[in-house]
Amino acid sequence: MTYKTITLRRGKADSLKRFHPWIFSGAIARTDTGIVEGDTVRVLDETGAFLAVGHYQIGSIAVRVLSFEDVTIDSAFWTQRLTEAFRLRQALGLVGRGDNDIYRLVHGEGDRLPGLVIDVYGETAVMQAHSVGMHVERQAIADALLEVMGALVTNVYYKSETTLPFKAGLGQHDGFLRGGNPSDVATENGLRFHIDWLKGQKTGFFIDQRENRSLLERYSRGRHVLNMFCYTGGFSVYALRGGAKLVHSVDSSNKAVDLTVANVALNFPVDHRHEAYAEDAFKFLDRMGSDYDLIVLDPPAFAKHKEALRNALKGYTRLNAKAFEKIRPGGILFTFSCSQAVSKEQFRLAVFTAAAQSRRHVRILHQLHQPADHPVNIYHPEGEYLKGLVLQVE
Ligand code: SAH
Repeated sequence: MTYKTITLRRGKADSLKRFHPWIFSGAIARTDTGIVEGDTVRVLDETGAFLAVGHYQIGSIAVRVLSFEDVTIDSAFWTQRLTEAFRLRQALGLVGRGDNDIYRLVHGEGDRLPGLVIDVYGETAVMQAHSVGMHVERQAIADALLEVMGALVTNVYYKSETTLPFKAGLGQHDGFLRGGNPSDVATENGLRFHIDWLKGQKTGFFIDQRENRSLLERYSRGRHVLNMFCYTGGFSVYALRGGAKLVHSVDSSNKAVDLTVANVALNFPVDHRHEAYAEDAFKFLDRMGSDYDLIVLDPPAFAKHKEALRNALKGYTRLNAKAFEKIRPGGILFTFSCSQAVSKEQFRLAVFTAAAQSRRHVRILHQLHQPADHPVNIYHPEGEYLKGLVLQVE
């Protein structure tokens, strides 16, 4: 296979030599004629020496690198990369367990597959393309996926309507690439969840909070829990199993509240400890009393881009300040940011500012992050996005 080539400007190959998997458009000196979005291209330095092979796209990130070796991107390549990803999840003890069949199989750059996410929910894999190149390759990837997963996966749902660049004009519709009509219930740490891969956010569930939900369970006994930004109610269900006295779930979306109620019912059919509210977080925090002694704040990404950073940090401070103001003495606060643009240090500073405003004594008990099935490629620190603090408030 002879791929078209892209030649970089002099001095623009340094980050590639450090294995960073993105090439920005400003680094490009010239491209072969006829290259279209989604093409696999070979990247050369100004002397014509080979640097990398990757997917070309129009935009600030012009190439997402698939390999730093001069390989052909064929079915053997996809099988090889997916096998590596699968072996890691096996090593993590996530595969073949009776009490857990939810995990992330492919986490973009973290699995050397930039632009691709694959989440496993029981026998269904939900595949999401974030680049045109991965979209172009979706059928080959689906074939490799079924080959690697064997009997573990029988359905492949493709969910990329909202993650592909609109301007590429792909007219993409979500749907099954393989199989269809699966059960929509999967199991995480022995708890069952309806997964809304058809219409839900991300691939239907926030797998990245799995270990943090387990930690919350251990703090739940006898507590009054507020799960703010509950989405599918993950934290709420763990809190109920952990022996919480009551659990209140809040989300501004009616659909999220319905999902939470359904997931609570799935695990605790007759349980009057739980109530859910469809309400704006800030309004709820303003009007609520001071009875909660375990609060979860897991908001959506406040900063999707670097430009939005300042306002995002203010938002985190404002939100956390309300929790510090109201949480019962001795209470525990689980507070998160999933904004990639916000660093661990910046988030901690925003929360510190909120704590200082409340003048309360606050201790850091745990510093949380994304789990190992969302690995960070060491050459791509941008892949580290989820951070959290568990705080005790006197
Ligand atoms: N904690 C969840 C994930 C949260 S995702 C889990 O473990 O799965 C963020 C959620 O915040 C979404 O469900 C979204 O509907 C909700 N949300 C966004 N803005 C909000 C607001 N202003 N008030 C309350 N909820 C909001």
